[in-house]
Amino acid sequence: MVVETIAAAYHPGEHHYFESGGKQFLYLVPSGAVFGLSGLSQEIYSLLQSCPLSGEELSMELGRRGYSPTEIQVTLDEMVDFDVLSSGIPKKTFPKVPEKTFPIQRIVLNTTNQCNLACGYCYEYSDDKIASTKDKPKFMTDSIAKAAIETLMKESAGRSSLHVTFFGGETLLNYPLMRDSVQYATARAKEAGKTVDFSLTTNATLLTEEIADFLAENRIGVTVSIDGDKELHDRMRVFHNGKGSYDIIAPKIKMLLARHRTNSIGARVTLSEGVREVRRIYDHLTQELGFDGVGFAPVTASPDRLYHIGGHSMDKVLVEFEELAWEYRDHAIKGGRHYFTNVEDTIKEIHLGISKAYTCGAGLGLLGVGTTGELAACHRFVDSPVAQMGNVIDGVNHEARHDFLEKHHIGARTDCHTCWVRGLCAGGCYHESYIKHGLTDASNLTSCDRIRGWIDLCLRIYGEIGIKNPKFLERFDDN
Ligand code: SF4
Ligand code: SF4
Repeated sequence: MVVETIAAAYHPGEHHYFESGGKQFLYLVPSGAVFGLSGLSQEIYSLLQSCPLSGEELSMELGRRGYSPTEIQVTLDEMVDFDVLSSGIPKKTFPKVPEKTFPIQRIVLNTTNQCNLACGYCYEYSDDKIASTKDKPKFMTDSIAKAAIETLMKESAGRSSLHVTFFGGETLLNYPLMRDSVQYATARAKEAGKTVDFSLTTNATLLTEEIADFLAENRIGVTVSIDGDKELHDRMRVFHNGKGSYDIIAPKIKMLLARHRTNSIGARVTLSEGVREVRRIYDHLTQELGFDGVGFAPVTASPDRLYHIGGHSMDKVLVEFEELAWEYRDHAIKGGRHYFTNVEDTIKEIHLGISKAYTCGAGLGLLGVGTTGELAACHRFVDSPVAQMGNVIDGVNHEARHDFLEKHHIGARTDCHTCWVRGLCAGGCYHESYIKHGLTDASNLTSCDRIRGWIDLCLRIYGEIGIKNPKFLERFDDN
């Protein structure tokens, strides 16, 4: 009898409540949608805070407040349709694990495992490295790159737009391979009636005018790894002789930004214990160098490394993140641009109602390729014993890939099952998890409060932009 009563009663679905711009909102966890409360829906939500109520009980109370039976029923139906309310026994639902044949969309080619820099925190060369390049070719050959592109063509059934990312070591040490691969992939995609676009990550030390023009002609998106002004950048990003790289890269970056205007050129900053002045770095990269996108990520390192950012330092970083995030809001409300991509990326996911089954595309729509042609879940697992998924000659190991996807699916991450941000976080980077815990599927629980705080902040910013300048959000609709 008690169960029947509960089953028939309305109660709020799984959600996170937030206020912004003087209004009330619900972030709906299973669907990833944002629902604005007002008038009657606000009253219904408020009535259901203390206990579930039947339709009859709600109608009686709301009738007393002057609402008609029709408007009450219409609003209740709408709230149920949007999963704001549920009238059944609450149960958690998760997306399904994809089929073994789930198509890939992106490959990341590690064009070389060599680098002309020796950055103190590099996950490929530091004490935390998991890749072993001993006895492996230093540079990817043309035939391996072509076989990788053929693997992408073969495994991307149903996908019309493909993507190739060039990565390293330092990618431009093997520039000829990149140049030829762009040509080959473009031709093969055209034959198959698909499109392909490209991106490159580089330390910028080897950029030339010729390379900049090639990148511009082929609309190749560029991410430059740079940690701020000379003093900050040179603390970690040094050549093998210990000399800082800032003086070499700064003029090259300016040259690139002047010559390449056909795609985005963003800066990617690695925050470490000695380099965490977010505002100073942001101002330098946007105002002095001219980047129109700056993203920050804390270094991936085990906690005993000196450059690892501890909780106290991360809290300070987040204070500066928050300041930049509000600045982003102010620009957005006025219809202007702001270049802090951490907030832009999160707001875009909120706007698109993304509810992730996986933290990222690794092993799902994305595979990393090493110089030998070995396939791994992503570029960071290339040449390691972990998350391997076949090779470009024999093909994708679909069993290994499926096992990986089963193991890392949000449904298998029981630590995350009650977390309201799981649709946006989904447990965290597998590589970071491996470095910190020796397991790819350990949710990084020490960071959860900070992650939830960050998403809550982005929701509030999203809500306020939605109220004051909804047109701004249209830029996220089509891509
Ligand atoms: S890792 Fe933490 S913040 Fe992320 S979904 Fe899991 S419990 Fe939530
Ligand atoms: S596992 Fe980590 S490094 Fe690899 S693609 Fe995902 S988020 Fe990026």
